[in-house]
Amino acid sequence: MRRVISYFRPNLLKVILCLTIKISGVIAELFIPIILSYILDTVVETGTILDIVLYGLLMIVLSGLGFLGNCKANQIAAGVAKSVSVNLRKDLFTKIMSLSQSQVDSVTMPSLIARMSSDTYNIHQMCGMILRLGVRAPMLLIGGTVCTLFLDPMLTLIMVLILPLVVLVLYLTSKYGIPLYDKVQTKVDKMVLSIRENMTGIRVIKALSKEDYEKKRFNTVNKELMDYELKSSIVMSSLNPIINLILNFGLILVIVAGAYRVNNGIILPGKVLAFTTFFAMILNALIALNRMITIISKAYASSKRIDYIFDLGLDLRKETYNNTSKHYIEFRNVNFSYLGKVNNVSNISFKLEKGETLGIIGPTGSGKSTIINLLLRLYDVSSGAIYINGKDIRSYSYRKLKSLFGVSFQNDTLLADTIYNNVDFYRKLSKKEIKKALLVSQSLFVDNLELKEQTLLSAKGTNLSGGQRQRLILSRALAGNPKILILDDSSSALDYKTDLALRETIKNNYKNTTKIIIASRISSIMHAEKIIVLENGTITGIGTHKELLNNNELYKSIYNVQLGGDVHE
Ligand code: ADP
Ligand code: MG
Repeated sequence: MRRVISYFRPNLLKVILCLTIKISGVIAELFIPIILSYILDTVVETGTILDIVLYGLLMIVLSGLGFLGNCKANQIAAGVAKSVSVNLRKDLFTKIMSLSQSQVDSVTMPSLIARMSSDTYNIHQMCGMILRLGVRAPMLLIGGTVCTLFLDPMLTLIMVLILPLVVLVLYLTSKYGIPLYDKVQTKVDKMVLSIRENMTGIRVIKALSKEDYEKKRFNTVNKELMDYELKSSIVMSSLNPIINLILNFGLILVIVAGAYRVNNGIILPGKVLAFTTFFAMILNALIALNRMITIISKAYASSKRIDYIFDLGLDLRKETYNNTSKHYIEFRNVNFSYLGKVNNVSNISFKLEKGETLGIIGPTGSGKSTIINLLLRLYDVSSGAIYINGKDIRSYSYRKLKSLFGVSFQNDTLLADTIYNNVDFYRKLSKKEIKKALLVSQSLFVDNLELKEQTLLSAKGTNLSGGQRQRLILSRALAGNPKILILDDSSSALDYKTDLALRETIKNNYKNTTKIIIASRISSIMHAEKIIVLENGTITGIGTHKELLNNNELYKSIYNVQLGGDVHE
């Protein structure tokens, strides 16, 4: 919570202004019933009509000022709350961007999204609430009680006897209502998940005609949500009528006791009237305090979740390593485990020279993408070392290391933006480079579009075919002439002829670029200078196409299945 409070600091003047207005407003409000009782008990008896009018005007001015001040203060409060949550969200976003892949894995992506959205929203709610009511409600409660004591201690006693009842009702509704709201929240999450799955999987659902099944599933979630929503509304909406009932009951008691005391000449009628006004004020303050406590406890839980992210240390920092390598890229005895239990890749060693091409082939789950993740330093090796240009990759700065690569990941997606921006990816590359990248990636289809590179894509590029998407993702990797080009399963959606043309153009246009190509088709990698066969996280074969055909069983069998000895060179 301390971190959240520190975000108020830049707005300190506004906070002080807001609270000052609030305090003055409460004082003015507390005066109104007192003036009222003074008019009724003293001015009406002894003063002139003019006096009554003047005091009446004073009441109007005070309540007018109180109203305007409150409006202004609430406006300031909204501004401060916005500024706090915007800045908090901005810093949290920056922090999340700096997390390492393994940190993201451990917190999980949906949880990060929730922390960015609903948790910062809870903080936003709390900030506004504290400024609006944090001072006002306690002041009304205490000030109101003190005033009633001065008016008539006997009547105050009656009120004090009623208050525990109110506190009990507030306690019970919170106790039963809040857990229901939590349930509503989880049901909302479930419904959003169901909607998301349905929207993204709509093609499969339609293709397998599972609409009815999905509809049923959605209806169940929807109904569950409705049930909880209804229950919590019933509990929470019973609060106001019950409080009103207690208020009226209390009022009757106060008026009866007051009338009795007025009759006996102990107290004047104006005071009883003022007393009832204070009574309502105090009850409202109690309700507001209760709401505030709910919102603060929610925000407190959220602030802990946000703090957890901020407190994550900087993983993968730049370190000094003295060992060097004579090769452009070298993996030396690399072992790595995602979860720290079993190694996902073991004893990986290979060398690659500048401009060479490395092909990697192996069954799903054999660790191909893991090797790329390690080379990009998305994760640090558990043991061993990786060198680029002779230096351990851990001694590169983050920027320097990333600037070496052009990457097309296995499950890369496109953004809802123009084709041009998707290829440029905000790197401010020249038009020529973009054109070249589109040409090399065989994205001729772009020229046939009405708006060419300025064509707008839908999110994830769903208005393109799988092959077209893959070509644009390839262009993105190629644009900017990277020193190291990594293609992870990037030609699977291309037909053989296009795949062949792609390899030819990459070879001719990116001579100085070192290429690492992961493919499931032997034809995509058979011309590479070096090919690695990966099985169960270890290298079971390394060499040229010819060598592997002679000495690697898996390679030979893949080759026989895919090309059946009929090689198109
Ligand atoms: P490939 O690319 O060859 O299909 P991967 O390198 O993606 O295989 O995965 C190798 C192994 O590591 C698999 O067993 C997979 O389940 C595991 N793995 C991959 N990514 C993660 C991750 N983020 N967390 C835990 N395990 C992972
Ligand atoms: Mg993979």
